[in-house]
Amino acid sequence: MKERFYFVRGQHIATGEAVWVYNHTELNPPRSYAYCCPHCGEVWAQAVVERAKWLFLTSPCERCPNGLYPAGSLWLPFHVEYMESWPLAVWQREAALWLNRDVPKTERKAA
Ligand SMILES: [Zn+2]
Repeated sequence: MKERFYFVRGQHIATGEAVWVYNHTELNPPRSYAYCCPHCGEVWAQAVVERAKWLFLTSPCERCPNGLYPAGSLWLPFHVEYMESWPLAVWQREAALWLNRDVPKTERKAA
């Protein structure tokens, strides 16, 4: 089994399995992911597979504004197999980010 090493701001947070990932209908070998912030330009997280090609992803870091996902999220909805292979520590970090998300400014009225 090939391993994937997860780093956030250079700190190792978890090790998991490096799985093959579908790109449309084609199954591709595991790649290393670099999360690059579109606001500050920093590569703030990496999911590294030894000797694998790099895929650079645009994803806001935790210091910059984010719209759809919590800032600093490793969420990659188009890389399902990758996300399914996340070790528990990555899921725990992700859950904490989503649960601490700011509540909407408008209140929902009870029906
Ligand atoms: Zn940033």
